[in-house]
Amino acid sequence: MKIDADLILKLRTERGWSQEELAEGSDLNLRTIQRIETTGVGSLRSKRSLASVFDLDIQDLDSKESPMSPCPECKSEEVYESTTLSDTTTIGGELLPKLATRKFSSAKMRPVICSDCGLLRFFVDPEAVNKMKTSKHWNRV
Ligand SMILES: [Zn+2]
Repeated sequence: MKIDADLILKLRTERGWSQEELAEGSDLNLRTIQRIETTGVGSLRSKRSLASVFDLDIQDLDSKESPMSPCPECKSEEVYESTTLSDTTTIGGELLPKLATRKFSSAKMRPVICSDCGLLRFFVDPEAVNKMKTSKHWNRV
């Protein structure tokens, strides 16, 4: 399964641990640590051990591959995401009904634009996505 290799490397170097020390601390062998840091692939058992040694939840080690790139239209990787979330009320009424996370707020979306073909997509913020799954106002199709 996919493991965020950059994060493992960062956490390990922050603590000043060698790969050997991490292997010892996580009860994994050195080759496993090396493989995870270079390929970002490891078993569930390895992922659990690493989460535990760094005192994190296992999903914190999920690889952060972006669902936004490449562009689904032209396959370009020149994709830009806005650093601010758009309020759906400013975009056009209740675009995402009943997904606001607070009573007087609206659901948020992140605009993502491909600089090669201009395709604009909106990604709904994760809180709203979670809310949608259990909302009676949204049906799975
Ligand atoms: Zn494109």
